[in-house]
Amino acid sequence: MRLSNLFMPTLREVPAEAEIASHQLMLRAALMRKLASGVYNYLPLGLRVLRKIEEIVREEMNREGAQEILCSALLPSELWKESGRWEVFGPEMFKLLDRNGREFCLGPTHEEIFTDIIRNEVKSYKDMPLNIYQIQTKYRDERRPRFGVMRSREFTMKDAYSFDTSWEGLDESFNKMHRAYTRIFERCGLDFKAVEADTGAMGGTGSMEFMVKSDIGEAEVVFCSSCDYAANIEKAPTFDKEIERKEDAKALEKVETPNVRTIEELVGFFNTTAEKFAKTLIYKADDKVVAVMVRGDRDVNETKVVNHLKCINFELADAETVKKATGADVGFAGPIGIKVDELLIDFEVKNIENMIIGANKTGYHIINAKYGRDFEGTLGDFRNIAVGDKCPKCGAEITINRGIEVGHIFKLGTKYSSAMNATFVDDKGEEKPIIMGCYGIGINRTMAAVIEQNHDEKGIMWPLSVAPYHVIVVPVVMKDEFAVNAAEEIYSKLNEMGIETLIDDRDERAGVKFNDADLIGIPIRITVGKKIKDGIVEFKLRNSSEVKEIKVEEIYDEVL
Ligand code: ATP
Ligand code: MG
Ligand code: MG
Ligand code: MG
Repeated sequence: MRLSNLFMPTLREVPAEAEIASHQLMLRAALMRKLASGVYNYLPLGLRVLRKIEEIVREEMNREGAQEILCSALLPSELWKESGRWEVFGPEMFKLLDRNGREFCLGPTHEEIFTDIIRNEVKSYKDMPLNIYQIQTKYRDERRPRFGVMRSREFTMKDAYSFDTSWEGLDESFNKMHRAYTRIFERCGLDFKAVEADTGAMGGTGSMEFMVKSDIGEAEVVFCSSCDYAANIEKAPTFDKEIERKEDAKALEKVETPNVRTIEELVGFFNTTAEKFAKTLIYKADDKVVAVMVRGDRDVNETKVVNHLKCINFELADAETVKKATGADVGFAGPIGIKVDELLIDFEVKNIENMIIGANKTGYHIINAKYGRDFEGTLGDFRNIAVGDKCPKCGAEITINRGIEVGHIFKLGTKYSSAMNATFVDDKGEEKPIIMGCYGIGINRTMAAVIEQNHDEKGIMWPLSVAPYHVIVVPVVMKDEFAVNAAEEIYSKLNEMGIETLIDDRDERAGVKFNDADLIGIPIRITVGKKIKDGIVEFKLRNSSEVKEIKVEEIYDEVL
């Protein structure tokens, strides 16, 4: 491809709306453009990367015996009503009506649809195990779309679903996906870790998230300093630790849950909003409430919890106030929680003097609480208490790092097959529910994560495996006919060899060309300058500052 033809409107300035490197670089390197909040259009270079990631995913899924299909994004409500998720999903689901008033949604995920496909076609144990997947567009009306394609409202997901006749079979299907995911993210050049995860919205047991290590990640991962334990903070047993530590702390008594007006109300609230339990804790000292921690898996829960607290006369600082006071990027979230069935609900909340609201950042849990007077410890302690400071596996110290969830594998068990009556007849003629797993990868988010981990101040540094092109040939002076011809020859030959090659044949200054080549992150640059007269070109890797002079004939070996 010739840069003189390529639709590549790169930007010199950092776009104001983009907070993180990958978002900025995806705009600057002309990979994509924003259409609406959380909705993006891909340009040629971006699309090539997306397709390469998809291809890696496809190869590794197929290698484990999974089969690709393609479902619609436009989904009838009936299936979701069968599983109960039409209501449960909440405002994250884009719902719409057709001209006859029938309800549809734009699929946020496809468990129900795959379960339906299988229950219609698969009857016997002989038809399984089966793993089918698609690479398809998903829609989620995220409350806070942000960071570009990292958390968007339309995105491409590879979602796979496994169907087995036994729990051992499910384990095997799950392990296959674990292997496939490991290879996929390795091939994408990512530094990642598979961590234990909460089972959350999807229900079921056994769940692992593939986390790319990054400070801008929205997930928090607990790592053990000594053994291999790693878990999403939601999964890590923080609550017990919390109680333990609390008892050491002076005059601080934990009161579990606010007095929601009735138990029915509370249970109803948990059932309808949540996939996950929303979690609230109130801390009392000397009969005064000193702290409230609220967290929910989805933002909607937090909102609801906050509303509940308000309706029982809680005065909560709003996110804006907390932000001002703390400088932290807050939701009403803290890392501690209690399970629904452990809730005590006879506590009356009357006296509130000081309030702490959980923030999403270590050490920012306070607004207007008087430490020392109300309880001991430093601001950071609160957070540390919440996550627990000992590894649950070996007792060593733990650390907490941020991560980007790029993939998630999940043992669903019979959650959907039972609800939707997807059964099979086993070898003894007995009818049983099919045992399922589900496995997702965010393709666009993976692309952004690759950029987060592979960039410098000049631009993107694509790993070869997902680079939009492998080589860029740069003739320095377009008026130098000899050099331009030589560059053209190199360009043609590399392309003939199957190496995806660009030539910067624009009538631009060398500086502009180099800047663009660095910005769009092409792994290999071949510069054709004056020395071409002696048969010499410059060879440079994007991820190294070394410029090598090599003979033209050597290019082809060097590139391979
Ligand atoms: P998150 O915790 O970030 O909201 P999730 O747990 O809701 O993600 P899953 O339902 O597990 O996401 O979906 C599988 C994968 O799809 C995720 O691991 C992630 O890579 C991707 N994904 C989910 N939501 C988004 C989004 N809004 N934008 C881009 N990718 C997403
Ligand atoms: Mg989500
Ligand atoms: Mg998640
Ligand atoms: Mg997930």
